[in-house]
Amino acid sequence: MLHIRVSVDMCLQNVPNTPCVFLGCLDPEKFKDFKLVKRTQLSHNVAKFKFALPTPTSVLGLPIGQHISCRGKDSLNEDVVKPYTPTTLDSDVGYFELVIKMYPQGRMSQHFQVMREGDYLAVKGPKGRFKYQPNQVRAFGMLAGGTGITPMFQVARAILENPSDRTNVHLIYANVTYEDILLKEELDNLSSNFPNRFNIYYVLNQPPEIWQGGVGFISKEIIQTYCPAPAPDIKILRCGPPPMNKAMAANLESLGYSPEMQFQF
Ligand SMILES: Cc1cc2nc3c(=O)[nH]c(=O)nc-3n(C[C@H](O)[C@H](O)[C@H](O)COP(=O)(O)OP(=O)(O)OC[C@H]3O[C@@H](n4cnc5c(N)ncnc54)[C@H](O)[C@@H]3O)c2cc1C
Repeated sequence: MLHIRVSVDMCLQNVPNTPCVFLGCLDPEKFKDFKLVKRTQLSHNVAKFKFALPTPTSVLGLPIGQHISCRGKDSLNEDVVKPYTPTTLDSDVGYFELVIKMYPQGRMSQHFQVMREGDYLAVKGPKGRFKYQPNQVRAFGMLAGGTGITPMFQVARAILENPSDRTNVHLIYANVTYEDILLKEELDNLSSNFPNRFNIYYVLNQPPEIWQGGVGFISKEIIQTYCPAPAPDIKILRCGPPPMNKAMAANLESLGYSPEMQFQF
C-alpha cells in the first residue's frame, strides 16, 4: 500500500486510498520561521507567545513529550538556541503557543524580551528522547520546577484529553513564590475536570501567609505522599533547574525508584 509523507494540509485535501503520515510543519534538520501573531504578558517576567502555522488547518506535528529548538540573538547579537515545549497540542490547529519566563541575564530570554507581534521565530524539531504512548504506564509522577512545568503540562493534557487513555497523573510543582506559578489556572482546571485522574500538589519556597500546599523544597516525604510508589508500571518525570533535578534524582534513588522508573526531560 502506498504511504505518502505529506503535510496535514495535503491530507485534508483527501488523496483517495492513501494513508498519510502527518509530518506537521517542523523540520528536524532545518530552522523554519513562524510569525508571532499575539504576545500576552502574564506577569512581570512571563509572557505567552502565539505563533501562526502556515495555514489555519496546519498542525505543528510535535509528538507528545518532545520539544522544539528555538533560535534567537542574545544581547551581543550572537546566535543562541534553547529548548522549549509548547503548551498547545496538535489538537490546537493553525497555531502553537509558548509560555516563556524571561530572566534579566538570560541569553534567549533577551530575544523573547524584544520580540513583537509580526516578528518571526526560527524553530527546529521535534527533539527529545521521551516517546509517549497512551496507557504505556499505569501512573506518572511528575516533579516540576519553574518553567519545567511546560513538558509536564503537555503530557498531562494529552493523557487527560484522550478518552481511551486511563493513565493517572500525580504532579508536584515547585516554585519560589505564589506569583511564580505558571499555568496555574490551566492546571487547576485539569484538576477540577479530571479529579480522579489528575492530582496536583504545589510547593513554595516562600509561601504567602495563608497557604495549604507544601513549604520549602520537594522532600522525600512529599514524594512518598503524592507520587505513585515504586513499581514496574509507573514512571516519575523530572524537569526543573539543574540543582533541583540533581536533588530529585537523589531523593528518588533513596526511595527505591530504579533508573527505568525515572525520566528527566
Ligand atoms: C525540555 C525543556 C523544555 C523547556 N521549556 C520551556 C518553556 O516552555 N518555557 C520557558 O520559559 N523555558 C523552558 N525551558 C528552559 C529554556 O530552555 C531556557 O533554559 C530558559 O529560557 C533560559 O534560557 P536563557 O538563554 O534565557 O538563560 P541562560 O542564558 O541560560 O541563563 C542565564 C541566567 O538565567 C537564570 N536561569 C536560566 N534558566 C533558569 C531556570 N530554569 N531556573 C532558574 N533560573 C534560570 C540563571 O540565573 C542563569 O544564570 C525548557 C527547558 C527544557 C530542557
